[in-house]
Amino acid sequence: MGPLLLSRGVVDRSAALRGDEEWLRRVWADEATRVLLVHEGETLVRSRGAEASLALMSPAQAPEGPRYLLGVDAGGVPYFAVKAPFGSGAPAPDAYGAPMGLRQAGALLDDRDAGLFVYAVALEAWHAGHEHCPRCGSRTEIASSGHMRICPGDGSQHFPRVDPAVIMLVRDDDDRVLLARGPQWPQGRMSVLAGFVEPGESLEQAVLREVLEEVGVVAADPRYMGSQPWPFPRSLMLGFFARALTTELRPDADEIAEARWWTRDELGAAVRSGELGLPSQVSIARRLIETWYGSRIDGD
Ligand SMILES: [Zn+2]
Repeated sequence: MGPLLLSRGVVDRSAALRGDEEWLRRVWADEATRVLLVHEGETLVRSRGAEASLALMSPAQAPEGPRYLLGVDAGGVPYFAVKAPFGSGAPAPDAYGAPMGLRQAGALLDDRDAGLFVYAVALEAWHAGHEHCPRCGSRTEIASSGHMRICPGDGSQHFPRVDPAVIMLVRDDDDRVLLARGPQWPQGRMSVLAGFVEPGESLEQAVLREVLEEVGVVAADPRYMGSQPWPFPRSLMLGFFARALTTELRPDADEIAEARWWTRDELGAAVRSGELGLPSQVSIARRLIETWYGSRIDGD
């Protein structure tokens, strides 16, 4: 089924260049340098049917705003993100594309563009949530081409954070899959279980704890599947399969509105009839379910 859709980046991150002021000045003056705008999780995307590409611009066309170096590709082209509202640069944004979020564009973009977009969104979200020093409360300043914030009060350095979250497909010994619906979700939409890793806990322990907490099922044998960034605002989703040792469901009412076991036939029929909606194509949840199912599942 190929790589996870938000784990496809191919541009070298070029960390050593983030502090190279001379190089940064030179490439910012070069019109071959490519810039994407990012604003509140969206960027400008040009769509052509089922395909799409980022609407990239030269530094001269980019509006003022915080600048993040995203890396340099194999052809030597540097890529930056600039955080700025669309339409604040020149020419008009409709010459470039339409604002789109990762959930929508993630499946349409090619490897390079999907990787640049998810990286820019993740950095933007980190900056938005870390404007003040956790030690002294001073307002921190952006540094290292957007990869660090420095506190002018005490000189402390702060680096982008990700929150590890486990997401797990639980199956029983009859090879049925466990899906559940959160209290905020619409009727008919279900997914696999997920939760944040807690301090002092391994990924495997988090998998088994979350399954027990959320639906009362004792699980075992967590097996890693893969990971992808989920910058809403800063999760790293770590996908697992696990085996249920018990099958009685006792959902935690605060977290789970409904949970049930599905056979392949039941799940396929329910999706086809529209009775069951699955998580989006860009999610690792969808990939876990399709891996268990044995093929892509059509329908949303
Ligand atoms: Zn401070």
